Amino acid sequence: MNAQGNIVVAGSTNMDMIIQVDHIPKPGETVLGGEFSQAHGGKGANQAVAVARAGGEVTFITAVGDDQYGQQFLDGFREEGINTEYVFAIENVASGIALIFVDPRGENSIAVAPGANAKLSPQHIERAEDVIAQSDIVVLQLEIPVETVKKTMEIARKHQVQILLNPAPARKLDTAVLRHATFLTPNEPEAERLSGMELNDRQKIPEIARSLLESGVKTVIMTLGAEGAFLASSGYEAFLEGFSVRPVDATAAGDVFNAALAVAISERQPLEAAVRFANAAGALSVTKLGAQPSIPTREEIVRFMEQTV
Ligand code: ADP
Repeated sequence: MNAQGNIVVAGSTNMDMIIQVDHIPKPGETVLGGEFSQAHGGKGANQAVAVARAGGEVTFITAVGDDQYGQQFLDGFREEGINTEYVFAIENVASGIALIFVDPRGENSIAVAPGANAKLSPQHIERAEDVIAQSDIVVLQLEIPVETVKKTMEIARKHQVQILLNPAPARKLDTAVLRHATFLTPNEPEAERLSGMELNDRQKIPEIARSLLESGVKTVIMTLGAEGAFLASSGYEAFLEGFSVRPVDATAAGDVFNAALAVAISERQPLEAAVRFANAAGALSVTKLGAQPSIPTREEIVRFMEQTV
């Protein structure tokens, strides 16, 4: 076993095309004068990069297109020290693209063309069975086909590897998928969607977490934005306060939280300490603009935690 945690992330890779507009265009409307920027994104890629920066040894299983972006992604992952052996370039398919409008209040409107992400198949995952078997934890989100998520979970279980399922973006999932998660990490809207319960006040959080535990998940870690996270497993519940920061851009906070959590768990840190590490990483990420540019390094996370004892 590696002293440094050994982590597999399987998920999406997108190019984010962002236009800052003074208002989000309505149907039929053209809004002129916005600033354009382009950034690497996709929940899977954000989490893989965040794992690498937080100090984990990471293999990323993903699919990219055979276009100009495919090569850019690959170069980017290599620069981060990610194992790219299972980055599949799919022929005659475009890379995943997200078109994002952001208004001055930070509200956004997003359309995603999944492209190659929709082609990441159970067969691709089977090819990575050895690396999954040797890992401490597998990290998954829901921007790739559900059958692919299921296959990854099946292989992880076969080799007694822990599974962290980040059920994002929000969708209903059948309990056959949920019950195999060792750790389930919904944010508030995702928890509402999965449990079918409304979160209208803080009192409801434990109730919703318990209902998710009933579906067979071992541990629920609900992320609560600036408030931190709620941790629940059989016979144990706790609110774990967030770190106080001046927020600039919340994009990818959840991705950074999940990645840091996986790193700490892979290092066998006790769960409360792992969530504290994740809260610190998540908080740091909201102090900077953009998805991947805002992902903190381990040094930054550790220094920040020391300063905030
Ligand atoms: P998502 O980004 O998926 O919507 P959250 O908003 O719950 O998820 O954020 C994930 C984690 O990031 C939180 O649990 C917390 O640790 C951290 N975080 C997010 N927003 C803030 C904030 N404003 N201040 C401090 N920490 C934050």
